[in-house]
Amino acid sequence: MMNKRIVILGAGESGAGAAVLAKAKGFDVFVSDASVIKSKYKEMLDVRGISWEEGAHTESEILSADEIIKSPGIPDTAPVMIKVIKKNIPVISEIEFAGRYTTSRMICITGSNGKTTTTMLTYHILKEAGLDVGLAGNVGNSLALQVAETPHDLYVIELSSFQLDNMYDFRAHIAVLLNITPDHLDRYDHKMQNYIDSKFRILRNQTKEDAFIFWNDDPIIAVEINKRSPAAICYPFAETFKEGVIGYAKDKKIVIDTINGLFIMEQDLLALTGTHNLYNSLASGIAAKVVDIQNESIRASLSDFAGVEHRLEKVLRIKGVDYINDSKATNVNSCWYALKSINTGIVLILGGTDKGNDYAEIEELVKQKARALIFLGVDNDKLHKFFDGKVSFIEDAHSMEEAVAKAYRLAEKGDTVLLSPCCASFDLFANYEDRGTQFKKCVYNL
Ligand code: ADP
Repeated sequence: MMNKRIVILGAGESGAGAAVLAKAKGFDVFVSDASVIKSKYKEMLDVRGISWEEGAHTESEILSADEIIKSPGIPDTAPVMIKVIKKNIPVISEIEFAGRYTTSRMICITGSNGKTTTTMLTYHILKEAGLDVGLAGNVGNSLALQVAETPHDLYVIELSSFQLDNMYDFRAHIAVLLNITPDHLDRYDHKMQNYIDSKFRILRNQTKEDAFIFWNDDPIIAVEINKRSPAAICYPFAETFKEGVIGYAKDKKIVIDTINGLFIMEQDLLALTGTHNLYNSLASGIAAKVVDIQNESIRASLSDFAGVEHRLEKVLRIKGVDYINDSKATNVNSCWYALKSINTGIVLILGGTDKGNDYAEIEELVKQKARALIFLGVDNDKLHKFFDGKVSFIEDAHSMEEAVAKAYRLAEKGDTVLLSPCCASFDLFANYEDRGTQFKKCVYNL
């Protein structure tokens, strides 16, 4: 019998990792990437004798696949995907594929905002507690590669909706759903329900042995839970106590109450500040309790976590003005939390590639707190249409240097200059990291 042929579309971290695992399991493997493959990944494929192509998708090579592992970055509307779908070739994600070859415990974190922070924080707690834990998914480490070559007892995995879309049999032993607000609607036919359904795929295959941790006060999650009755044990958390909630803040303490006992900690000692980070800390703390980590260890890790770059990252204070890099705020809701967490006048730098944003969500906070807005994008029309007349100072910028120089000029002592763009970065930058790094560089050069 001929070997099953697996074709991998997209040779980034997840694709290259999937190829390594597929090869190790004896499949006939081919990797195809429409753009240039990073040399690190080429090497990874070459030393294992895996064939690949770049700069094109050769149809005959791809459409002969028995199964396709698709990078989360490739939409179903890409020409190659249209042909794949027409031919009915099964398409899965790298995480789905990796899940077939491991029985390790999976802690999976999704949501519209806070995924990376909560994933890193949860990983930090488990690692510091001495567990053999791997970090995987969207944060940048392939699960498949680890399963193939450096397996761990358990994994903390950040899952985007794009990864969830191609998951079928994968089971999350502990699922965390932080929140659902509009994002990536361009990839979901501009239908919010499609995006919601994608997020809820995290509950597929969960059993009553498993855990489902979620933000109790999210209106969308509440409606969906009523519709779906999750199989797993539910662990809802909220800002304050109410019936049924098992993680909350009360009298300046955070409280987590699970079958593995009670955890209480002074809220002041949490390393991450702001309401959104209270949620993230509660979610991570609950996951840690479900895994049965000692309270002392959870407390230490929740208080010494160093934070994640580009997420409300303090850069510098210059002449009494704080500069904060929140480049990862690529949707309106995360900017809302950033604005909410800052109690000074704000010069807000926003703009970029709009993903169908509705700026009404931040209108009130902008009117209350923003001294000035600086629109940083190739096309700022939509921003002007919405905000013109609502804030005294509005300026355009077409490079980070220009944006920071204008912010410096407009900010007054005691203000905060906040880069929290609400948008993707691809019009002017390579990615959000590049945008944040350029911001920091420009600030240091002031
Ligand atoms: P993700 O990985 O989901 O994009 P990150 O942890 O990278 O999330 O945070 C992205 C942005 O979202 C941050 O800049 C922060 O301001 C905001 N944020 C973080 N956690 C939350 C939360 N629980 N709810 C809403 N916004 C959040």
